[in-house]
Amino acid sequence: MELKQLGEHTWYIPGRVNIGYYEENGKGYLIDTGLDDDHGKKILKLLNETRGTPLRAIVNTHSNADHIGGNAVIQKRTNCEVWATRIEGIMTEWTSLEPLWLWSAWPFREIRGKFIEAKPSKVTFIDGEKAEREKAESEYPIMDTALTAVPLPGHYLDMIGVKTPDGVFFAADALFAPAVLEKYRFCVMINIEAGYKTLDMLENSRTTTWFVPCHAPAVRDIGELARQNREALAWVSEAVYDTLAPGRALSREDILAEICLAANLEMDAASLLLNLSSVSAHLTYLSARNRVEPFVKDCRLLWKRKDG
Ligand SMILES: [Zn+2]
Repeated sequence: MELKQLGEHTWYIPGRVNIGYYEENGKGYLIDTGLDDDHGKKILKLLNETRGTPLRAIVNTHSNADHIGGNAVIQKRTNCEVWATRIEGIMTEWTSLEPLWLWSAWPFREIRGKFIEAKPSKVTFIDGEKAEREKAESEYPIMDTALTAVPLPGHYLDMIGVKTPDGVFFAADALFAPAVLEKYRFCVMINIEAGYKTLDMLENSRTTTWFVPCHAPAVRDIGELARQNREALAWVSEAVYDTLAPGRALSREDILAEICLAANLEMDAASLLLNLSSVSAHLTYLSARNRVEPFVKDCRLLWKRKDG
């Protein structure tokens, strides 16, 4: 693990989940904390050895377990605050909502591992008491710091990117490395249309010297990565549509199974439910474009082409 400098006051720790670090007025700020206690302890050790600056807050981009899993141990040891948007913050304080949401009922043990359900931590909302919708469309300052929150809709509920004043843009899970896209095919994306818009916005972001996605290496130019992510989204949309050949009707579980068997993708219960959520998002996207439609037959929710 190492701390790499990207700007005068900004660093990051490269890894399976890239962690951001920023300093202002003698205080340190982490951007996300990785998967678990172990990851959190390693981050703290590294910061103590290399910087030794008191940690004021963790800024969480969103509430997925691989981004908030180190919060609890870091908060316990440093007494730092955890800052997040309202809805992501609620998911961070009550982390059993994540498997509950996936399963749509109280979750069973096999989907409550640390990759889905992190240890909870105590959150301070960065979007305050004002209606967050008002702010959701545009950038806003993070508390009293020079950091800026940039809404990145698509991947999750109210995910933000974090911009530092020295030109670094932590882009969270708005885009993934080609190797990740290739390996998993279905990267979590709950709103496809919003996800495309976010990719456009990132590509047009001009005041950035470094982009740091959480699951891709830091890059100076985001264009190629945005293009690869657009392609990956389109691939899933078309794969879903292709399973619904004219005259066929399938449930979303059937659609997922057909795609995964053809692409040789193995899943456990948790990854199957995550992928099912992506299939659902693509079905919503395709139905909004009048390409597919749902209907109930023999007590099953099925999908078919609208033109077939
Ligand atoms: Zn992630």
